[in-house]
Amino acid sequence: MYKEIDIRVTPEEARDEETIRQIVAEALHVHPGRIARVALARKSVDARRRQVMIQLRVGVHVDAMETRAPLFVPAYRDVTRGEPVIVVGAGPAGLFAALRLLERGFRPVVLERGKRVEERRLDLQRLYRSGQVDEDSNYGFGEGGAGAFSDGKLFTRSGKRGDARRVLEILVHHGAPAVILTDAHPHVGTDRLPRVMANIRHTIEQHGGEVLFGHRVTSLLLREGQIAGVVANEREFLSGRVILATGHSARDVYRMLHRHSIRVLPKDFAVGLRLEHPQELIDRIQYHHPGGRGNFLPAAEYNFAVQVGGRGVYSFCMCPGGVVVPACTAPGQQVVNGMSSSGRNTPWANAAIVTPVGEAELESLHYPGLFGGMEFQESLEEEAWRRGGGNLAAPAQRLTHFLEGRSGPGLPRSSYKPGITSSPLHEWFPPLLRDRLREGLACFGRKARGFITGEALLLGVETRTSSPFRVPRDATRLEHPCVAGLYPCGEGAGHAGGIVSAAMDGENVASVIN
Ligand SMILES: Cc1cc2nc3c(=O)[nH]c(=O)nc-3n(C[C@H](O)[C@H](O)[C@H](O)COP(=O)(O)OP(=O)(O)OC[C@H]3O[C@@H](n4cnc5c(N)ncnc54)[C@H](O)[C@@H]3O)c2cc1C
Repeated sequence: MYKEIDIRVTPEEARDEETIRQIVAEALHVHPGRIARVALARKSVDARRRQVMIQLRVGVHVDAMETRAPLFVPAYRDVTRGEPVIVVGAGPAGLFAALRLLERGFRPVVLERGKRVEERRLDLQRLYRSGQVDEDSNYGFGEGGAGAFSDGKLFTRSGKRGDARRVLEILVHHGAPAVILTDAHPHVGTDRLPRVMANIRHTIEQHGGEVLFGHRVTSLLLREGQIAGVVANEREFLSGRVILATGHSARDVYRMLHRHSIRVLPKDFAVGLRLEHPQELIDRIQYHHPGGRGNFLPAAEYNFAVQVGGRGVYSFCMCPGGVVVPACTAPGQQVVNGMSSSGRNTPWANAAIVTPVGEAELESLHYPGLFGGMEFQESLEEEAWRRGGGNLAAPAQRLTHFLEGRSGPGLPRSSYKPGITSSPLHEWFPPLLRDRLREGLACFGRKARGFITGEALLLGVETRTSSPFRVPRDATRLEHPCVAGLYPCGEGAGHAGGIVSAAMDGENVASVIN
């Protein structure tokens, strides 16, 4: 007999297989000796009540092991002689598009402006040493895109857009830990993701596809409303099918599309600041215990959202046990983001605290027009760079001082390696957005006692949470409505947000190409 059941156990019980076996046997009214195997199907932490519990869904084999469906194994074909499809960008969207093309017999030719993850890692080390950013190799650009050295949270709310489970299974097939298939909030960590991305490249190459690094696409080849190829490194790559998966940090790509008179549309995007707390404080708050998380619970997360004057203020990309990193993609910019390794074991918790900005707000901020959003992002990043004093130092302020609108001496310690510079964020962050962030943060403080504290630090600026543009496409053919064969894809085209949804979008686009 095989049966799936839900059980609730304490964090300590969840760690002990024998205890689980006993609990499961009791629930099924059978002797524990009859339990042949207990397989974990789903795991989540329920911290809503004082006693934190672990919710488990387990598959129980009684008396004998029943044959279950094996793990999904993708059927990649040898595409050496297949029709070429150009994929611009090797982020999650581009790589998953390429993998899907292999299944369909097309030959992906992936053009990536950055380097392989192994070399990219060295450029990130250089970024910390010198404060100088390489415009083609940084936290946003290079193999794996913004996803490679990201936090690696693989939770998505865009389940309707595709098969998130399939994406996770493909990641496991390429070396991600199988636990991502059972955790309710799956997380890989920045120490493991790059290897997974490199394995995806090996799959593409082994099946006859190509991945060309150091190939920044600078122009498109167009013939009477139809794409004919792209230009990279002054060389023409010809194909009537081009997937454009360049992410939301490739501002030159939006300008290139505009130069070619290819329609792009402005869209709302979010900006704000990154908030950093001591992790043990977040553990105490979220697990309702003065002793924090104890020995059996993971570093606690939080997720807040409120409405302020009809606009949202929310936490985003929360990284328990993580660090704040410099996510700029060009010199003279100061951009922060967050990540953590698989162990989530630093003494800090960080999250973006952001609010959306749309056309009307941009006009009132004196950034009108199609490129207003992008110019506003740029101006905030340049201001933050100046305020930080250059060299990647982040302008920073105690959370309490930001809320009270005052400056004060000394800053708490931060995980942000390039350093922090005391700066009155409350004075130079655009008042319209500052006031919204303040009100939102105050609400979060009312929901979670202890959240508003002088120990917490705000760092500037968080401008790359989403794309300020949408590149339109036909609802079923997924092609640009004015350029046959051009497939805008992923986060940069405004059709995804996050690793899994970008990967699903890559799969969707590659599934309809013919
Ligand atoms: C530090 C950090 C942490 C993050 N943490 C998470 C997380 O925990 N969970 C999550 O879901 N998301 C996270 N994200 C966001 C996530 O990484 C992105 O949503 C996702 O990578 C978007 O995928 P994409 O393929 O659409 O674009 P991208 O990942 O941005 O990839 C675009 C690729 O295109 C290349 N490119 C750009 N222009 C050109 C050109 N002209 N020619 C050739 N190539 C070009 C770039 O080099 C890049 O490799 C994080 C991002 C960062 C920076």
